[in-house]
Amino acid sequence: MEKILVSGCLFGWHCRYDAVDCPCLDERFIKWKNEGILIAICPEVFGGLPTPRPDSQRVENKVLSCTGLDVTEEYEAGAKEALRLARENNVICCIMKQDSPSCGSQYIYDGKFTDTKIEGNGRATELLKEGGFKVFDENQIDEAEKFLLEKEI
Ligand code: SF4
Repeated sequence: MEKILVSGCLFGWHCRYDAVDCPCLDERFIKWKNEGILIAICPEVFGGLPTPRPDSQRVENKVLSCTGLDVTEEYEAGAKEALRLARENNVICCIMKQDSPSCGSQYIYDGKFTDTKIEGNGRATELLKEGGFKVFDENQIDEAEKFLLEKEI
């Protein structure tokens, strides 16, 4: 069965940096969840980071926390795990949390911790796109549904 890879926090896990969840409440997302076609990942946790953890942002080729920690290695490991899961689970597309330094697919924060967004991808999303996977965000369920209908899923 083909699957949709989704961010763990959209799936309902309390895996955000501040340990808060942000579940996607769109009825189609919930239906897919109940049908068992969603496979969840939190790249940051799967990469070895704890919850809660300091807020982090992409800064050029690194990921740095607001406390000055270099967490690039953990983000890289989580991104690779997302790509591995997508490849090994017959994933047809992904729905990932917008704005995240791991899961963002259009916008991320600017790396200066000034609450300013810029165009860009999170590291896991970047790797998924490089691997040929289509990535939507939680505000693009219409587009994701259309994509799935076109693929006759
Ligand atoms: Fe959600 Fe992705 Fe951040 Fe994990 S890394 S909390 S799945 S946005």
